[in-house]
Amino acid sequence: MKSFKDFIPLLHAKVDPLLYGVYPLSIHTSKGTTLFIAKDKKKKVLVSVGPSVGLEGEQTAIDGKQVVIGELNAANADVLKKVFPFTAPRRVLKKERTIGVGDRLGIASPGHIRVFKEFDAFPILAQQSIRELFLTNRTYRDVLDAATFAVFQEGFKKGYGADGDHLKKYEEVKMALELGFTMITLDCSEHMHNEFESMSEEKLQSSYVCDAALEKEYMNKSFEVANGVSVHFDEISFKRMVMTYKDVLDFATSIYETYFKDGTYDADLEISIDETSTATTPDEHFFIANELTKRGVEFATLAPRFCGEFQKGVDYIGDVAQFEKELIIHQAIATHFGYKLSLHSGSDKFKVFEIFGRITKGKFHVKTAGTNYLEAMRLVALRDPSFYRELHTFALSAFDEVTQYYHVSTDITRIPDISTLSDQELVKLFEHNDSRQLIHITYGPILNKKNEDGSFMFKDRLYDLWSVYEDQYSDLLFGHIKRHLYQLYRNIKG
Ligand SMILES: [Zn+2]
Repeated sequence: MKSFKDFIPLLHAKVDPLLYGVYPLSIHTSKGTTLFIAKDKKKKVLVSVGPSVGLEGEQTAIDGKQVVIGELNAANADVLKKVFPFTAPRRVLKKERTIGVGDRLGIASPGHIRVFKEFDAFPILAQQSIRELFLTNRTYRDVLDAATFAVFQEGFKKGYGADGDHLKKYEEVKMALELGFTMITLDCSEHMHNEFESMSEEKLQSSYVCDAALEKEYMNKSFEVANGVSVHFDEISFKRMVMTYKDVLDFATSIYETYFKDGTYDADLEISIDETSTATTPDEHFFIANELTKRGVEFATLAPRFCGEFQKGVDYIGDVAQFEKELIIHQAIATHFGYKLSLHSGSDKFKVFEIFGRITKGKFHVKTAGTNYLEAMRLVALRDPSFYRELHTFALSAFDEVTQYYHVSTDITRIPDISTLSDQELVKLFEHNDSRQLIHITYGPILNKKNEDGSFMFKDRLYDLWSVYEDQYSDLLFGHIKRHLYQLYRNIKG
C-alpha cells in the first residue's frame, strides 16, 4: 500500500485518501493546518500538515510543508480537544434520547458512531466501570482519549458524552470529573440495606428509627403523580423502606453537594439503585426521588431495578407484561419529578426495547454493556477459527474465576463441544445464550493471561486481528447496535 506520506502532496487533489491509509472522514483543517489520522502499517498515527498546532511527535517536511507525525496518546488528544472542540465529551444526558455504548477495548467507537449518524440519539461513547478498568488494565484517561480519537477519525460533530459508570466512592467520582467525564453514574448499592426488606415485622419494629417529620409526611399517606398514578405508604412498608434507603439518600446528597452543587464540573448525575436483587417498588422509587428533590439534589436520570432479569449479553428474562405494567408507574414518577429513566445492562434486551421506547415516549437513557466485546470475538470466530478455538477453550477454564464478578445463569455444560463444530459453525455459538455469556464475562482473563516469558498469551494477537479487520468489526457493531435502536424507536410517538 502507498504511504500516507505520498498523500500529503496530493492533500487537496481529488484522490481517494483510503488508498494511502488515510481515514477520509478524519481530514480536518483549522487555521491553515490540516490534521488527519492514518494507518501506518499496523499502527494509527495523527498527522498535522502546516503550521504547528502543538502535536507531539516526529517533525519533518514533505513537499515543502511542515509535518508532524504523532502517536494517538494523551498529549495529542489534548491538542485535538483544543483545536477541534467537537472531539471533547459534552453534557448530553439531558437530551431526549441517550445511549451508553461504551468501548471496552478502545476500538469500538467508529462502528458505534455510524449508528448515531443515522439516529438522533446522543451516544455516551466512553462508559466504563471501575471493574471493567481493572479487568482490562486501562485507565479512565485511555478510555476518554479513545473516544476523542474515534470522533475525530469519523468526523462526528454532533456531540457525545463520557460516563464514569457505576462509581461508588468519593475519590472515584472526583477522579472522573477532573478528567472531564460529563456524567457520573452513582452506584448507591453499598449504602442500601436490603436486609430490612425481608426482615420479620417484629425485628423491623425494634430496629426502626426515623425522624417524626418524615413519618408524618409519608406514613399512611398517598401521593398523586402523573397520569392518574398514585403511590401509598402503609406503616410496615414505609418502615422497611426508610431503613433500606436512608443511607442511600445521605450518600447521594453528600456526593451531590461535594461535587455537583457549585457547578465546578460540567457534568450530569445519574442515581443508580439497580444493583440489587429485588425490583424497586413504585413507593421506593417515589420516596427516593421525592427526598432527593427536597434536599435539592439535581439529577438527570435514575436507574431503578426493573423486574425480571437483565443478564449480560442475553435477552430479557422475565414477564414482559409485568415489566410494562411496572414501567408505566416508574415512568409516571420520573415524569412527575422531571428526569429520565435509565435502563442498565441493556444490550440485547430485544423483548423490552419497544416497550421501553413507547412508555417513556422516547425520553430515555439505555446503557448497553460490553456487547461490543462479543462482536469483537464473533469477528475472531469468522476470521480465524483456530484462534477462536484456543480462546474458547481457555474461556471455559477461566469461567469459575469470573463468576464472582457477574450475575449470570450460564450453564457451561449446555455449550456445544467445539470439537464437534466445523469452522463455519463456530459463529453459531454467538446465537447461543450460554456461550454468549461465557465469552462475555471472561474478557478479563483472556486479555490479561500471560505466557511464561511475560508476553500476553492472547491480547496482542487479538488486537492485531481486530486492526486488520477493523472495517468488518465496524460493520458488525453497526448492524448489532442499529437493531437495538430500531426497536427502541419503533413506537416512540405512540
Ligand atoms: Zn447498573
